[in-house]
Amino acid sequence: MAKYGFLGLGIMGCPMAANLLKAGHELVVWNRTPDKCAPLVAQGAARAGTPAEVVAVCPVTFAMVSDPEASLELLFGTGGVLESIGEGKAYVDCSTVDPHTSIEVSPSITEQGGRFLEAPVSGSRKPAEDGTLLFLCAGDQSLLEEIRPALDAMGKTIHFLGEVGQGARMKLVINMIMGGMITAFAEGLVLADKAGIAADDLFAVLDGGVLANPLFRVKGPRMAAGDFAPAFPLKHEKKDLRLALQLGEELTLSLPTATAANAAFLRAMNAGCGDEDFSAVLKAIRG
Ligand code: NAP
Repeated sequence: MAKYGFLGLGIMGCPMAANLLKAGHELVVWNRTPDKCAPLVAQGAARAGTPAEVVAVCPVTFAMVSDPEASLELLFGTGGVLESIGEGKAYVDCSTVDPHTSIEVSPSITEQGGRFLEAPVSGSRKPAEDGTLLFLCAGDQSLLEEIRPALDAMGKTIHFLGEVGQGARMKLVINMIMGGMITAFAEGLVLADKAGIAADDLFAVLDGGVLANPLFRVKGPRMAAGDFAPAFPLKHEKKDLRLALQLGEELTLSLPTATAANAAFLRAMNAGCGDEDFSAVLKAIRG
């Protein structure tokens, strides 16, 4: 069994790290808000005072934080990863960021002799708990092979997509599609309701045809019941839509559906729904 570090113990990071422990690996954890380390320490993890302290004692360190700004702070901030990275050290960033962030992170690690894998994930709180995430990896493929047992403990599928940046790009494409889907679904729910159609009837019809999918199946009943407990915080999907539109802009692409979804998510953010589940975009559409 191996020794791993884990930085960022939020909705996703905590269960991912717990799955490394369950698989029998040794684990050292750090979180900006230290209290969030407690459940993992109770399960046998050691705790460190800074990201640099984690990297100093672990050959491979995973990170799972909010956004590009958090990813960069983890690396370049005081007590950050770069203070300890070097020969024999590897860093795997699972956070959803834009390709520019990964492309900035990668050489800062490799120039000090370390190795880097970009590894954002598809799948939410439940797949993180069940160890059934999809990893969208790019960068150092030999590192991927070395840490495959760890990725297998946290996920069910591992994709290797090529050069650093491709993992972030794939993740943004996926979450742009998901943002459009949930917005269209929310509009359908509101229209059905106004038209006197019961939500359960709508779900049954959707689920019986070509539009059936796990997203609608899982989120539908919760949305209808007004349950927006966060599995995927709305503020993170808003960030992903922003980054996907930015990518589209760089590639001179007009993305009208994502633009409309982004506007709905912005309304939801402004209505104070950022910490609720991303399906709370329904509230912005219902008005
Ligand atoms: P979360 O529950 O909001 O956790 C965010 C984590 O980032 C926390 O550990 C937080 O620390 C840390 N963080 C934020 N800013 C930081 C900073 N400046 N320096 C250091 N740490 C910082 O989010 P999550 O749902 O676990 O998502 C984490 C990442 O996974 C995001 O990039 C998200 O887009 C992506 N993702 C999420 C899901 C999902 O369904 N939830 C699915 C796939 C991908 P504190 O505890 O101190 O706030």
